[in-house]
Amino acid sequence: WRADQTEQTLVPTHCCFCGVQCGMYLRVDGHGKVFGVEPRNHDINRMRLCPKGINAYQQVNHPDRLTAPLVRRSRDEPFREASWEEALDHTVAEIRRIQGERGRDAFGMLGGASLFSEKTYLVGKFARVALKTRHVDYNGRLCMVSAAGANKLAFGIDRAANPFADILQTDCLLIAGSNVGECFPVMTQYVWGARDRGATLIIVDPRQTAVARTADIHVALKSGTDAAFFNAVLHVIVAEGLTDEAFLAEHTTGWDEVKATVAAYPPSRAAEICGVPAEQIVQVARVFGRAERAMAWHARGIEHHTQGVENCLTVINLCTATGNLGRPGAGYGTITGQGNGQGGREHGQKSDLLPGGRSINDPAHRRQVAAIWGIEESELPQAGTSMMEMVWQMQRGEIRGLIGVCNNPFVSLPNYAVVKDGYDKLEFHAQFDFFLSETAANAHVVFPVTTWAEDEGVMANAEARVVKHNKAQDPPPGVRTDTWVMCEIARRLGEGSKFAFEGSKDVFDELRRASAGTVIDYYGITYERLEQTGGIAWPCPSLEHPGTPRLFEGGKTYHADGKVHMQVVEWHPPADPYSDEYPMTLTTGRTVAHFLSGNQTRRLGGLVEQTPRPWVEVHPSHGFRNGEAVRVVTRRGSEVLPALVTEAIRPDHVFVPYHWPYPVAANALTIDALDPRSKIPEYKVCAVRIERAERI
Ligand code: SF4
Repeated sequence: WRADQTEQTLVPTHCCFCGVQCGMYLRVDGHGKVFGVEPRNHDINRMRLCPKGINAYQQVNHPDRLTAPLVRRSRDEPFREASWEEALDHTVAEIRRIQGERGRDAFGMLGGASLFSEKTYLVGKFARVALKTRHVDYNGRLCMVSAAGANKLAFGIDRAANPFADILQTDCLLIAGSNVGECFPVMTQYVWGARDRGATLIIVDPRQTAVARTADIHVALKSGTDAAFFNAVLHVIVAEGLTDEAFLAEHTTGWDEVKATVAAYPPSRAAEICGVPAEQIVQVARVFGRAERAMAWHARGIEHHTQGVENCLTVINLCTATGNLGRPGAGYGTITGQGNGQGGREHGQKSDLLPGGRSINDPAHRRQVAAIWGIEESELPQAGTSMMEMVWQMQRGEIRGLIGVCNNPFVSLPNYAVVKDGYDKLEFHAQFDFFLSETAANAHVVFPVTTWAEDEGVMANAEARVVKHNKAQDPPPGVRTDTWVMCEIARRLGEGSKFAFEGSKDVFDELRRASAGTVIDYYGITYERLEQTGGIAWPCPSLEHPGTPRLFEGGKTYHADGKVHMQVVEWHPPADPYSDEYPMTLTTGRTVAHFLSGNQTRRLGGLVEQTPRPWVEVHPSHGFRNGEAVRVVTRRGSEVLPALVTEAIRPDHVFVPYHWPYPVAANALTIDALDPRSKIPEYKVCAVRIERAERI
């Protein structure tokens, strides 16, 4: 160690990189600089950290950090460093110009779900009160809004029903569409812990992922067929008398309709649709249906579809029909991807929601929030559109100005050509970031903002447990918090009195009040309580309330009638049709070394060394050698990638990880087709062909 490192302090906080939210200490040297990480015996992770968590600290003082605002008047010019005054004044002038010429809704805002909840709350308030636009959405729209939609429909509340610890008590754990071992590595301690105690592990995934290799049953179904599969599993459960009729009679509505629907999904039909043996469907049904305590967790694998909401509903139907809700070891959950994937959607940065998950279309909800924000209900804009729809509006010239915070759509949105075209048509684009992402590099103004280690705030993990991140170091000179930047712009727009926040704690206290009385009740959660505990699960309506780690105990949901509203689902094929030209399936996903668009992890030495570039995973039956150049062609574009030849992928599928930008962007190939209910894009399935290429 350097001498100044021997004077280290340990700042307790959490990893920023996924919805598990592992506890960690950041090591801070005698000069007040973060220089390392140390495991922390938090009950979420019990000292464990994955490669991303171990390397996360390196971004804090990384040489690529932006330390001055960047400004240019047109995209033909290079960026130049500017003062904060100039960058803020120019931004405000452009907001005024565009809204003056084209109306308030010609300016939009896009947030992110890796922000602290305080900042997600501010994004929603800033857009509606300072910009006065209806157009605000966030990158959780690409993540798990379909699960959120299903949860609200079935249960009247949008969060996982059980804490991670409940997994250890299950007899049967079904994980659908989640590469847990790579995307949420520390969560595998619960998966394998359950298995060590005798639980049967069922993995439903087109790929034989790391966790699927350890499963008792791996269902390698075709991507885009989940609804048919789960309907067929429920068909067998009904046929073999494995439903919990008492639970269904007392705690549900809609069961008769669901039962009639799944009658049309015998295993023989689903086997044909899903490309798996009918016997395996029967086997899954028997194991899940006979278990005294069974659980199902899922992630983007079943959510990233044009029937994403419906896929999640079929899993909920399965848990409900077997009475597996509201008990230790029996329940349902969705594994959030981003660090604040859960909290990011709770506090009003979503186009259709206000803080506390209130509906922007509900007059009573609008009045409640308007009163807290100090405006008239009539001043509150109406619902806007979703993230991808906003890009289409940029293409059409309906949205001409944009502020982006904590997102990188040039890598993360589908159909890159459309995204680039939409952003190129913006007359003004400002982006907040701490590294120059591909999207920021296309902007007119870039505001250099803090990392997660330079501010305090809360995130809600995949259990809906709210945890507190603590500030470990001051930001580098020239860097400001996102909160400060939004408040400064609001002040220059004449709305400063509504944004008189000194810091995160002020914002959190307003957030708590804004959530009070809703299902997403944070009122009883304070910074002080979070600092004294390992986190508190919402709803937590009072300062004495212990929080709610497990939902639906006694079978009671958050609908007015207290019941599970079971929903009928019919399977339909994916949006991108197969043809002789495009006969195979492309599916996309993550790898253990990288996080989302890679803007952070593609700069961190050990992670880049482990996984420097993307590849295409192909089955040996196609005759490629490892490393050989493969051209991957869809209706949106083509690119050449090295082959990773493996039997872990179905012969009719290829897989490409999506963390890299054009020209090796998986999302230059994917389709911008959306789930009509949740508006999540169909990242997990599109029609493709592969060809031998000359060279990479
Ligand atoms: Fe961070 Fe998630 Fe890894 Fe835990 S599992 S260290 S939260 S990336």
